[in-house]
Amino acid sequence: SMFVGGTFAGFADMFSQLQKTLGATESIREILRSESEPVSLEAITVAPENRIRGDVQFEHIFFSYPSRKDTPVLKGLSLSAQNGQQVAIVGPSGAGKSTLVSMLLRFYEPDAGNLFFDGKPASSFPLSELRAQMAYVPQEVLLFGGTIRENIAYGKPDATDEEITQAAIKANAHRFIEAFPDQYNTVVGERGIQLSGGQRQRVAIARAILKDPAILILDEATSSLDSESEQLVQEALDNLMKGRTSFVIAHRLSTIRNADKIVVVDKGVVHESGTHAELMAKDGLYRRLNEMQFEFGVVTQSVTETI
Ligand code: ATP
Repeated sequence: SMFVGGTFAGFADMFSQLQKTLGATESIREILRSESEPVSLEAITVAPENRIRGDVQFEHIFFSYPSRKDTPVLKGLSLSAQNGQQVAIVGPSGAGKSTLVSMLLRFYEPDAGNLFFDGKPASSFPLSELRAQMAYVPQEVLLFGGTIRENIAYGKPDATDEEITQAAIKANAHRFIEAFPDQYNTVVGERGIQLSGGQRQRVAIARAILKDPAILILDEATSSLDSESEQLVQEALDNLMKGRTSFVIAHRLSTIRNADKIVVVDKGVVHESGTHAELMAKDGLYRRLNEMQFEFGVVTQSVTETI
């Protein structure tokens, strides 16, 4: 791998690769981001036989994007997560982290290999019922133009006011919402109030809490919030992750130390996985990433930026 050996030539390679991939990486994020727009406001009923606990298994998955069939992105990637586990995904830019997430949300089909939910092939579930049981919180939350209530209720269109308030409380959003003259009827977006990045994230977290998904996908923000906002967001995320299978695309190693499992993705495969302690005990990529963040004194900066 480019990390092992730790030469600067390796880092330079990776940096130029990063630059090359930026355009494409943006587009996958665009797809994921479109989740934040209201597509349908009908509540989806999940049939009892399609309800999942949240066990997920990627089995030897191969994938290349339709536009770049000659360049495989996932090259036999395997990983599993048990119901309720918190799984952190780390690795260099372009390693395939977002691609893995878009497979999970079933935006794309694998070219080979299998994806299972609760031991059943992903294709055996109706797509809408599967997605109804997953929530995605992106790096940069875009709310749609409408009231805060509508933005939160998007996760559950038939939610009562009481449910919305409870979700906002758990998301550390209730206080700032209440402080607006129109409270939950405050209009946000271009024609309304501009919320701060941290406030938008907490609204998105409230939406996810209300949706009550079995599986949660978080793309950790790379741009740092101020430390007070950061703490409020982290607390809200902890409330959200409790009891759900969570996949966290992590950019800061400091936030994932307590993950049940850390998965290091590099060049389209799982390079190594384990707890923080297990991975630090090995002389591998994860330990190297930690040392790099330490050496350069940029502990709070994102891993991908450090590279
Ligand atoms: P980052 O940390 O920069 O977000 P990542 O690990 O999430 O990176 P991916 O976004 O999954 O990496 O990208 C993996 C590879 O797939 C890259 O080489 C990228 O150029 C390519 N890729 C991503 N999205 C597309 C797309 N929509 N079409 C074609 N290629 C893509």
